[in-house]
Amino acid sequence: MHTDTPSSRVFDNYVAGRPLPSATGRSFASINPTTGREWGRFVDSTRDEVDAAVQAAAAALSGPWGAASPTRRGRLLMAWGEKIAAHAEGIARLESAQNGKLFAEMKAQANVVKEWLYYFGGLADKIEGRVIPVERPSVLNYTLREPIGVVGVIVPWNSPTFLSIMSCAPAMAAGNTIVLKPSEVTSASAFELVRLAEEAGIPPGVLNVVTGAREAGEALVDHEQVGKICFTGSDAAGRAIAARAGARLASCTLELGGKSPNIVFPDAPVENAVVGVLSGIFAAAGQTCIAGSRAYIHESLYEQVVDRLVQRARAIRLGDPLSADTQMGPAATAAQLQKNQAMVARAVDNGGEILYGGQRASVPGFEEGFFFQPTILHRLKADNPIMQEEVFGPVLAVTSFRDEDEVLALANGTKFGLAAGVWTRDLRRAHGIARRLQAGTVWINTYRAMAFNSPFGGYKQSGIGRVNGMESVDQFLQTKSVWCETSDEIQDPFVLKV
Ligand code: NAD
Repeated sequence: MHTDTPSSRVFDNYVAGRPLPSATGRSFASINPTTGREWGRFVDSTRDEVDAAVQAAAAALSGPWGAASPTRRGRLLMAWGEKIAAHAEGIARLESAQNGKLFAEMKAQANVVKEWLYYFGGLADKIEGRVIPVERPSVLNYTLREPIGVVGVIVPWNSPTFLSIMSCAPAMAAGNTIVLKPSEVTSASAFELVRLAEEAGIPPGVLNVVTGAREAGEALVDHEQVGKICFTGSDAAGRAIAARAGARLASCTLELGGKSPNIVFPDAPVENAVVGVLSGIFAAAGQTCIAGSRAYIHESLYEQVVDRLVQRARAIRLGDPLSADTQMGPAATAAQLQKNQAMVARAVDNGGEILYGGQRASVPGFEEGFFFQPTILHRLKADNPIMQEEVFGPVLAVTSFRDEDEVLALANGTKFGLAAGVWTRDLRRAHGIARRLQAGTVWINTYRAMAFNSPFGGYKQSGIGRVNGMESVDQFLQTKSVWCETSDEIQDPFVLKV
């Protein structure tokens, strides 16, 4: 069932409605993490190649996209959503072959993004200015909400289509045009997205795709004609991007990593909490920004819950992500596998103990694959690096606690603030804790829920700004204040009124 493409194929950049072959012939390989074999090759874009894409986006902005009515833009986004859903299976196959995540998950994501495009397509003609009641009644002062211009969208490998649409949909609804730089690990599906956008009637140049790694991203961030960067990725890259963008005063939306806690109180619905903790960290092999990588379990339930977690982790079936029987695929890259191994080893060096897992896993038929066992660690002090740094792998740290104040201090005690889970039947406690948690999303008796109309983003070093929901459109708009004197009067500062 594997879809290894001939490895000689080089995917060209896609600019102004056409494939744009590399001028230098520089390319890089993407590796199928399940087989360890080369899957395809992509253009390693230079600054000039990134510039060509920005020029195309700028031309589309002052051309057909700028001229389209907001209603028309919205309809085109909706039509794009239909097309993507109709091709969800093919997109998922490309993504799964590149990042090793379950085909079923990638397909569900490619299918659900239509909801995002319907929602933001619907919002396109509801972006309104205001009339301001300024002091002088003869003056009409109103605001226009205008697109920023060309938006550079940079995304990671874990959910390529989902995260690209989360950024592109509000940006395009607001009237901007896009240069999308997918991750060097998962570049292929972006070309499907742009092909389908144009099939849906979105004019050439509105969405352009350039591939490459950090250097291509930096060229996009540095480009004077890119008015806004919408970045999803690691906190380290986010910090570097914000500094570069800041150097030329371009604005950024940053969706970064996390070290999210799941807190299980004594009155929790225990079996649901076990499922929530388990899926929070082991679904997607932990390769999700909202991974619930720290579980704080009340001492009265600690042994019971930890035993269940180990039992369930032991039963997780590792294997080919394209197979419906598989519950966990490999790490997406050899580097991510090494990071999992190194961070677990460091946690143990710092006094932690392995309750389950901690090793590279061997999967029959896929001996070269980058598989890692679901891993549970305990006896970890709050300053153990694994309690502070994101692994982005299937590694759960469990800790017991006694009371609310103690667990809040622990839960809030990292630089991150992306998400948190609270498990309790006591609603007063649940909402009280939700207020005191420093996190952009708090889930009570559930985990990993997300919707196109509910804002998502990070507190502290998990990010700046929000995707999803109405406020995400605001991040791609700038406000112009227009003043119009409607009477024949003119205020002349050189004529003194007595
Ligand atoms: P990464 O930061 O290494 O790379 C992300 C993207 O940025 C890639 O396209 C990469 O080529 C590019 N890039 C890297 N350094 C850059 C630089 N200095 N300048 C410009 N571009 C640069 O992240 P990754 O390993 O691809 O993805 C995993 C990370 O993404 C995790 O930290 C995860 O938590 C985060 N993430 C966050 C969210 C969210 O919504 N908050 C969602 C998914 C993933």
